[in-house]
Amino acid sequence: MIYPHIFNLHIAVDYILKVTMDIYDFKRGLIMKSMKCGPCGLFCGACGATDCDGCLSDNTDDLVKQCKIRKCAGDRNLDFCCHCSHYPCKELHDFMTDRWPHHWTMEPNLEYIRDNGAQKWIKDQKRIWSCSSCGAMIYWYQKMCRCGKQLNAWELPE
Ligand code: SF4
Ligand code: SF4
Ligand SMILES: [Zn+2]
Repeated sequence: MIYPHIFNLHIAVDYILKVTMDIYDFKRGLIMKSMKCGPCGLFCGACGATDCDGCLSDNTDDLVKQCKIRKCAGDRNLDFCCHCSHYPCKELHDFMTDRWPHHWTMEPNLEYIRDNGAQKWIKDQKRIWSCSSCGAMIYWYQKMCRCGKQLNAWELPE
């Protein structure tokens, strides 16, 4: 038999746990939204779009809004595709291996996120995608920083 006061204690503990999890999810959501990355493993900080705050934010451009990978990860409640049991699905694999050089960063990025966590990855990406002379953010295909430093940018595909 469960005594009433024990039963009440159970309800109170369950309630506290639920509120704690809600706060945790809320904080995690805010952190993710500010991270400037896509669930696909692309670092949005090096994208160069000026009308978008990143694929996990609420302020995205129209291309991002239509992205099937972003929708799929969102529907599965996943921050990143590397946490999906279907990873890498065909859609993601085809995207990772198409003709755009910046897409080739997705696989190593996702593996890094899986092994080291997203926060460390973002920190590293911010360092990698900033000018070594002036510290300004640089973009995947940018040939010269605004300070004049030549950059080792990829070539745009034909
Ligand atoms: S594939 Fe989708 S989620 Fe990834 S960067 Fe492009 S728009 Fe964002
Ligand atoms: S790996 Fe594929 S199936 Fe899994 S969330 Fe990403 S896009 Fe969706
Ligand atoms: Zn610079």
